[in-house]
Amino acid sequence: MQDVPTQLKKYQIYIDGQWCDAASGKTFETFDPYTGEPWALIPECDATDVDRACNAAYRAFESGPWPRMTQTERGRLLRRIAGLIEKHGEHLARIEVKDNGKLISEMSAQLKYLPEWYYYYGGLADKITGMVIPVDKPDHFTYTLREPVGVCGLIIPWNSPLLLVGFKLAPALAAGCTVVIKPSEYTSASLLEFMKLVIEEADVPPGVINVVTGYGATTGEALVTHPKVAKVAFTGGSATGSRVASLAAASFKKVSLELGGKSPNIVFDDCVMEDAVNGAISGIFAATGQTCVAGSRLLVQESIHDEFVERLIATAKTAKLGNPMNFDTQVGPVTTPPQYQKVLSYIDIAKNEGAKCVLGGGPAGPEMGGGKYFVQPTIFVDVDNKMRIAQEEVFGPVLSVIKFKDEEDAIRIANDVIYGLAAGVWTQSVKRATIVPRRIRAGTVWVNTYRAMSFTMPFGGFKSSGLGRENGQTAIDEYLETKSVWVSTAANTGNPFIMKTATQS
Ligand code: NAD
Repeated sequence: MQDVPTQLKKYQIYIDGQWCDAASGKTFETFDPYTGEPWALIPECDATDVDRACNAAYRAFESGPWPRMTQTERGRLLRRIAGLIEKHGEHLARIEVKDNGKLISEMSAQLKYLPEWYYYYGGLADKITGMVIPVDKPDHFTYTLREPVGVCGLIIPWNSPLLLVGFKLAPALAAGCTVVIKPSEYTSASLLEFMKLVIEEADVPPGVINVVTGYGATTGEALVTHPKVAKVAFTGGSATGSRVASLAAASFKKVSLELGGKSPNIVFDDCVMEDAVNGAISGIFAATGQTCVAGSRLLVQESIHDEFVERLIATAKTAKLGNPMNFDTQVGPVTTPPQYQKVLSYIDIAKNEGAKCVLGGGPAGPEMGGGKYFVQPTIFVDVDNKMRIAQEEVFGPVLSVIKFKDEEDAIRIANDVIYGLAAGVWTQSVKRATIVPRRIRAGTVWVNTYRAMSFTMPFGGFKSSGLGRENGQTAIDEYLETKSVWVSTAANTGNPFIMKTATQS
């Protein structure tokens, strides 16, 4: 038995419609990154719990009410989920802030927007169609069916837990899959509250959605390698994504990966300067840099470089650091202790590489409005794109400013990284606004805006930023198999050893 301090809230996992502890009885603490204090206990699941969850999801996929539900009923269920998120959004947003330290203004807006994913995929559920396809073989009626892939393992990072669950869960349910979700060990609480307030209330049949909590190397790997899991949808770092993909490959599981980035935000000299300054700031500092699409490389045309940097520093300096639970706070803490150390170590790396720090450059203590895991909004200039600070994902409030000469130079620098998640382009030229996005190797390019996102628009990465797409109509394909059905209307006569028409070996 563990000694449980009475002030800590104790959560349970959700398997087969039941709340329970991990089989081992083990738990771990989850921390408030603003105070650095633990506030809840989370079950530490191992392979035994993952096995129970995957078996429950498999049973729910094969039998019971779920596979018998019509697509229209599934759509209605998704819309019920959406309505319940609307009802409980503010509470869920506060739990997210308590766990990940992101700003209440951002998490609140995310939770207000989140129901749209469930409404949208609820609407799509009964519009998944196969095709009647004419073939070159006479006397055959041929068509395709779109069927759910089966049990899906959904693995989520800490930066926007419920939004990133929604990117996967809504299309998975619409397609008819069942799921086992593993949230980040740093931010499990909001998903467990979501299961209680939303999923239970919506009357989702037992086993359709299961949640196991725990660490990546144990709980996560047990999920990725479980034989009953047909598909893994993963969001997280690129190194972890590569490990997940290779583990999943051993049993030919389908995989979709949403990974890291080092996104270029490109400012041309014909931009509207005030818009571009604001876009650059919100691209990197708004979420304390803890967003996969952070515009962490700011490419500025040399003709406006000095003036632009001056204006950038002047605006960045006004950032109000503080308690993320206050609506007027603009920069909050870094979410996890290892991440805090990582951000500070990248600041040292940049200084040692010869980049010039023109703002911030270290921890932000209480005298700056910060606290335990705060980093000052930091800007480096004189950054060469070959430096590690320009090539590697920091995932913190650290901006690298890189000079470029002309359009060709900007595109070359923008593409010269292993990542390809997103990019920004600031220009008033229609020609540039059309041509530059086509030449950037990234899954999303914003022109004269940054970080805009919608449930209707596909989202995902090129190169080391991922595989597959989330959101929009095409995301549902990630959760579907295509089956070809051949119906012969001819008499089955002739030599049975020799195929008359088929040519497949
Ligand atoms: P992470 O890769 O450390 O962890 C992500 C999840 O994977 C967690 O739930 C973790 O427990 C689990 N995990 C870790 N090792 C595992 C393993 N061996 N097998 C299975 N699961 C394992 O990432 P993080 O630090 O939580 O999140 C930050 C990263 O996520 C950043 O790189 C960021 O760019 C990326 N991210 C990408 C997107 C996107 O949509 N492209 C969105 C948000 C975050």
